[in-house]
Amino acid sequence: MIKDVVQKGSDILRQRCNPVTNFLSIQGVIDDLIETIAHLKTTYGFSRGIGLAAPQIGELVRISVAEYKGQQYVLINPEIVERSEDKQPIREGCISFFQYRAKVPRNTKVKVRAFDRQGEEYFIEGEGDFAMLLQHELDHLDGVLYIDHLPNGENDMYLSNEV
Ligand SMILES: [Zn+2]
Repeated sequence: MIKDVVQKGSDILRQRCNPVTNFLSIQGVIDDLIETIAHLKTTYGFSRGIGLAAPQIGELVRISVAEYKGQQYVLINPEIVERSEDKQPIREGCISFFQYRAKVPRNTKVKVRAFDRQGEEYFIEGEGDFAMLLQHELDHLDGVLYIDHLPNGENDMYLSNEV
């Protein structure tokens, strides 16, 4: 089902999400995330990658879906297991901060351990924009938003028509 995306200012985005223990019980949440992403892409045409975390559709469980270069990743109970020491500011947006962007310092490479929707463990590595996307989506599961990485928070965001 296509869901409304929770917008900035809501307490829901500030909660720490619960780990998934029963994979059967969260299949509907995964479908809703995938359908909502598909809808957003059709409507707004995000081309650089897109992600949506369960709290953004009001579900406080550790699930994010990320799409990058035509590949879709269902990230359940994800954890960063390795990260580069260096950080670089990468242009970033969030569907909960619609039309805003900011340059957010992020580790340039990360390795993530996660489970897929069948409960199978897997690892992915990302660099640059994909590393940013993974860090952004994992942060959501701890109630962390990208403004938290900016020296002046929301004041460092700018309005943008970019997609
Ligand atoms: Zn976001």
